[in-house]
Amino acid sequence: MKVHFLGTAAAEGFPNPFCLCKACQKARTLGGRNIRSRTSVLFDDVLKVDFPPDFFHHAIRYQMDMASVKDLLITHTHYDHFNPYDLYNRIEGFAHGIEQPLQIFGNDLAMQGLHQALPASQEHKRFAYHRVLPFKEVVTQTAKITPLLADHDQMETCLLYYIERNGKNILYGNDTGWFPEDTWEWLKGKKIDLAILDCTGGFNSDKRSRNHMCIETILEVQDVFQHENMLEENGQIIVTHFSHNSGLLHEDFVKAFQPHGIQVAYDGMIVYL
Ligand SMILES: [Zn+2]
Ligand SMILES: [Zn+2]
Ligand SMILES: [Zn+2]
Repeated sequence: MKVHFLGTAAAEGFPNPFCLCKACQKARTLGGRNIRSRTSVLFDDVLKVDFPPDFFHHAIRYQMDMASVKDLLITHTHYDHFNPYDLYNRIEGFAHGIEQPLQIFGNDLAMQGLHQALPASQEHKRFAYHRVLPFKEVVTQTAKITPLLADHDQMETCLLYYIERNGKNILYGNDTGWFPEDTWEWLKGKKIDLAILDCTGGFNSDKRSRNHMCIETILEVQDVFQHENMLEENGQIIVTHFSHNSGLLHEDFVKAFQPHGIQVAYDGMIVYL
């Protein structure tokens, strides 16, 4: 399976265009893997997670036509993950040659946002909406998905996804802090080929940080994975969704994670499972 990291930044992008902190200044000077757009991952060009404001940039930068995407999973409606107005470009008269509706899965707030942003006439033609619930498995065109509860925003049912496709199991784990107990319970006994985790924070003494993970939280999650034997033999952890507020650049994250065998995502990174 091809796993394409289209964007790997937290909400503000890295560098934050308005910010004069050391990390942002350095990222501007160094460029390369320090330049990050908002987080999204594309599996085999057909299954996409989240629809950030950098969607257009991703399509141009990676020279893709996004018409190949069949299923779109939304984790939550924060502006860095959900920009439904750009989906308007898929309606009849704007996009040509589209034969199937894009199947979109998300929580109730995402469904409401889609209904507000997109013309009702396009439902079933260019879009199909599916409200999903935590721990209720759904079979999509491209995968079997189970939404899991995140600990991210007390005002929204933010979701993570356990994705089963072509014999591989992926845990899509951002945005979230230390997983809620119900999510850990559900995960016990499951096998994971790839866990994609939220590393919004940098070094922080809190091993079980709320709302977002930091380096220590990721290592604590890895401990549980090992203890519970949850990773497949060649199972990997890849971290993403980085914020300049961590004060860390790409190489700093690599230094922190490499000794633990954890990969640091960057924009454009492709791994094959
Ligand atoms: Zn986010
Ligand atoms: Zn900054
Ligand atoms: Zn968020």
